[in-house]
Amino acid sequence: MAKHAVPKRKTPKYRVRSRFSTFVRGVQKDLKNRVHMDTCPDCGGPRLSHHACSTCGKYNGRQVIDMGKKIDKITKIKA
Ligand SMILES: [Zn+2]
Repeated sequence: MAKHAVPKRKTPKYRVRSRFSTFVRGVQKDLKNRVHMDTCPDCGGPRLSHHACSTCGKYNGRQVIDMGKKIDKITKIKA
């Protein structure tokens, strides 16, 4: 006889999937809250708050990044 707790029934697929989707939703919400994107007042593109715009290279109305050079854009957030 088992000395530890043993589940009486097999967990149905719908319950596993429901649990997983809830977990995924939580992670997505977490990531969304972690990175706050603002809109650039100069070009209207998305940019990180308190960071120079990666589209036009401006910060607070000043040109701070030379956009003639090639810079890798942030397209994906690694978690
Ligand atoms: Zn911009």
